[in-house]
Amino acid sequence: MNIHILGGGLLGRLSALALAKQGFQVALHDSGGREGAQSAAYVAAAMLAPMAEAVDATALVLALGRQSLPLWHDIVRTLPEPVFLQQNGSLMVWHGQDAALAQQFERHLQRAHAGQSVWQRWQAADIAAQEPQLGGRFQAAFYLPGEGQLDNRQTLLALAAALDQHGVACHWHSRADAASLQQANGWLLDCRGFGAKTSWNAAAGSRLRGVRGEVARVWAPEVALTRPVRLLHPRYPLYIAPKPNHVFVIGATQIESEDDSPLSVRGGLELFSALYAVHPAFGEARLLETASGLRPTLNHDNPEIRYCPHRRTVAANGLFRHGFMIGPAVADALARLLCLLREQQSPPPQDTVNGLAWQQWPVA
Ligand SMILES: Cc1cc2nc3c(=O)[nH]c(=O)nc-3n(C[C@H](O)[C@H](O)[C@H](O)COP(=O)(O)OP(=O)(O)OC[C@H]3O[C@@H](n4cnc5c(N)ncnc54)[C@H](O)[C@@H]3O)c2cc1C
Repeated sequence: MNIHILGGGLLGRLSALALAKQGFQVALHDSGGREGAQSAAYVAAAMLAPMAEAVDATALVLALGRQSLPLWHDIVRTLPEPVFLQQNGSLMVWHGQDAALAQQFERHLQRAHAGQSVWQRWQAADIAAQEPQLGGRFQAAFYLPGEGQLDNRQTLLALAAALDQHGVACHWHSRADAASLQQANGWLLDCRGFGAKTSWNAAAGSRLRGVRGEVARVWAPEVALTRPVRLLHPRYPLYIAPKPNHVFVIGATQIESEDDSPLSVRGGLELFSALYAVHPAFGEARLLETASGLRPTLNHDNPEIRYCPHRRTVAANGLFRHGFMIGPAVADALARLLCLLREQQSPPPQDTVNGLAWQQWPVA
């Protein structure tokens, strides 16, 4: 069976690889290049944080995140180019005056991960021993051992190389549109993220919107962190994700806006004030880049899969701020749905894979 994938950002690439491994003939079309610079994935910090996200994320998203961590290891192991994938836990820190936030955060952890020991409370001496440059700066922290991170840009490029290797026809800078691909032989898989807003919202059901996020990349040769650090803060919650070669991704604002213009002064002040408060050595860091992107978000904050047998179209969207965290499990669910369609030649009943439901798409 032929599959045309429209949108080769994160989910499009992961799905193309999963489908090619299942023996589908896959073609991928993206309006941008193989480096993925037009995708939200290109801007992302690529934190894999299914424990810390308990504060904001739904139970489904947390579960998909837990499933995806081992899948990432399997994927990265087989990629033809090296990708920085770290699973060394993450650290939540806070200033003394924000102790109430830490209590609240611990309640979120207890609620979301009841009965599981997914976090440890570190005292000042533990922080100094495990993350020496933060020694003396914080009196307590939560350590979340299961969490990890990727290098997003290496991942996008290595996935593109893997697609070439698996015989996926990648059409970068492609002007293909959904209507013409729906005429083609086979099925269309729509993975355009925010780019699918008009067609997604043309059907009844959940609404797709963009949620602006701003990040900065800095080079700080004097700072050494061995894992992502998050600051619990009432106004400027911040994460610092250390990438190879003393590059740090600082993120991210979350603004209800579909404006993807460059970083605002306010966003920069928030990010850099919080960064400096975590460690003043960041004051000497060199600013490499600032960027903004739109997170494709549905009103229930969960990802969703729809299919329309009439148009032979499957659409997946709503990965919001968790695309890296949950992408492999969503791609896995998509591959299983398309395998069922191939085997049965008729639409499967509404069903659930990896806890993620798919449903027949009401034609607009
Ligand atoms: C600032 C920021 C920080 C983030 N940090 C994290 C994080 O730490 N951890 C995490 O898990 N997630 C994070 N995310 C979220 C993650 O990046 C997204 O959830 C993920 O990229 C969504 O994947 P997607 O494939 O649906 O969309 P995208 O990655 O945006 O890909 C969509 C693709 O579709 C293409 N496209 C659009 N329209 C068309 C068209 N008409 N024709 C052809 N191609 C088209 C685009 O060029 C793009 O390549 C972050 C996002 C942002 C913005």
